[in-house]
Amino acid sequence: MPPDIPSVACARRPGFKLEKLKRYTAKDAEETYLVPHWAAGFFRVGEDGELEVTPEGAEGPSASLFEIVQDLRDEGRPLPVMLRFPQILEARVVALNEAFRRAIKKYHYNASYQGLFPVKVNQRRMVVETVARAGKPFAYGLEAGSKAELALILAQDLHPESIIACNGFKDDDFIRLALMGKKLGRNVVVTLEKFAELGRVIRIAKEIGVEPQIGIRYKLKTKGSGAWEESGGEAAKFGFTTPEIIKAVDMLAEAGLLGTIAMLHSHIGSQVTDIRRIKQAVREIAQTYVQLRKLGAPVRYLNLGGGLAVDYDGSKTAFYASANYTLEEYAEDLVYVTKEICDGHGEPHPILVTESGRAVTAYHSVLVLEVIDTIRPPGEERLEQPKDAHPVVKDMFELARSISAKNYREVYHDAFANKDTVQNLYDLGLISLRDRAAAEALFYQIARKTLKLALELDYPADELEDLQKMLADKLVCNFSLFQSLPDTWAIKQMFPIVPLTRLNERPTREATLVDITCDSDGKIDRFIDTHDVRNTLPVHEIRPGEPYYLGVFLTGAYQDVLGMNHNLFGRIGEAHVVVDEHGYEIERFILGEKARRVIEKMGYEDDELAEAVEKLVRSSKKLTPAEKGAFMELYARELVGYTYLED
Ligand SMILES: *Cc1c(COP(=O)(O)O)cnc(C)c1O
Repeated sequence: MPPDIPSVACARRPGFKLEKLKRYTAKDAEETYLVPHWAAGFFRVGEDGELEVTPEGAEGPSASLFEIVQDLRDEGRPLPVMLRFPQILEARVVALNEAFRRAIKKYHYNASYQGLFPVKVNQRRMVVETVARAGKPFAYGLEAGSKAELALILAQDLHPESIIACNGFKDDDFIRLALMGKKLGRNVVVTLEKFAELGRVIRIAKEIGVEPQIGIRYKLKTKGSGAWEESGGEAAKFGFTTPEIIKAVDMLAEAGLLGTIAMLHSHIGSQVTDIRRIKQAVREIAQTYVQLRKLGAPVRYLNLGGGLAVDYDGSKTAFYASANYTLEEYAEDLVYVTKEICDGHGEPHPILVTESGRAVTAYHSVLVLEVIDTIRPPGEERLEQPKDAHPVVKDMFELARSISAKNYREVYHDAFANKDTVQNLYDLGLISLRDRAAAEALFYQIARKTLKLALELDYPADELEDLQKMLADKLVCNFSLFQSLPDTWAIKQMFPIVPLTRLNERPTREATLVDITCDSDGKIDRFIDTHDVRNTLPVHEIRPGEPYYLGVFLTGAYQDVLGMNHNLFGRIGEAHVVVDEHGYEIERFILGEKARRVIEKMGYEDDELAEAVEKLVRSSKKLTPAEKGAFMELYARELVGYTYLED
């Protein structure tokens, strides 16, 4: 794509050169990578230029992520690796509950908050167990969206009053499992997603001999904002319409079971970026609560579902990667609006429930990638002009020599036209591969100079973005986007990405990232920015023999479960790290999937594969016995090896 060079010269950027001469410090790096904007106090750049984790906030203990990764490598652990910080997870659970406690106190709300963690956001054992432990003092509960999720939830150690909510479409066994849980003394609420589930619940409750606690999911008219806007509103997949609610109330009243309606539930979608939508949804659901109470349904729990957003880009806006409100404001708005509406109708304040998943888990995990190679666009080396070069190539040399602050726009346009000409000549067989290569290298050389001059002279204009993108390095990172950052591919999610070291050195290169799958979608070329989206990431010149790690942050929500085995890259290893005043401790390391495991998922048996390969080897006349042995050993080793590149 030809970049449009801005035709109007912009105002000079004063001090640009001075700025370049100044020493680049940790503080500068924090701004380059926007760390204080998205880190919520859990990460910062240390004076020594290393990215640090501070799981208990800035005042608490800290540890360098680079050191943690180096220790893991010294232990022989392969990359990529997921670092998990249980303390961050605990801190988020506490922060959520404390925010509601404060809001309840502030507005003299007469009931409590009893949140739920929807396990679909991250069902990893360490995550669910840590959340359950941290939430126990707050009677924080868990939410299941399927039978399998309920099966793992029923085994968790929760406060006796913690709610276990069963959402999702249900068959008889799902309902049986839920109602048996209730009979066993757990505070299980069966949330009806659609009207037909009501008859089933009544029938199975009779069969089992237990009084159910029913939740009704209400189809909000209010829509969310951001990428999940369509989860709410009238076209939503789940929930009761108002006529269905009336029908359900009548049906339950007739069966003498009106008293079983315990919860009113709603969910406007994930990552709701605009607080106004949330307030509007609370108003709507609180009014519905009041109306249900008036119909005689003794609703106790008012559940606003998920949607509490994470400010991934740190811009504090309603942009899809951000949020224009804080946890504090969220809690206060829910409490205040509900109270106001209930008081207006003389109805009791319900126990407030939310199902915040993303906001609880996103911060606790950091994906660590190693850059294993750099792919650079041509044109960085100096070229000597050969005597017999084609006239177009000679012209390109002349353009490259003559480019200056005065003429760079025309020169670039001419070079661009020449590049096209060369392509046409080449297609007609009128120019050699060597000449074409020279012309191409010169074109990149001119483009590089154009960008440099434009940046030095003018405010960087949006039009230069294409040029920047074209000239960016491609850093090859040892990971699979589809396994570790599936939302980057699926929904253009952006995560903050920061080098783990050298953050007191000015980054001098701009890069995009590519993974090691053979899928051309396996790349990252959109990065966070407070005003917009960046096409490239500032990085350092990579020094041979020195590891360069990139941390991908806020990856704790949804990525673990949605990850897939594209190209048979398996789940990666993970380290659980605890930080205290004495340093840090790698509490646990969980190995990544072995190749064998991933291959088996596709229907193969590893011993059958080994047998077939052995047969092939034995029948070979070309291999010596030693070669046969070595190959069989290599094959066997690969089957139990890590699926990523190991050097
Ligand atoms: C997915 C989901 C959630 C979690 O939403 P977040 O935006 O991650 O907090 C909560 N409730 C229901 C019903 C969901 O489907």
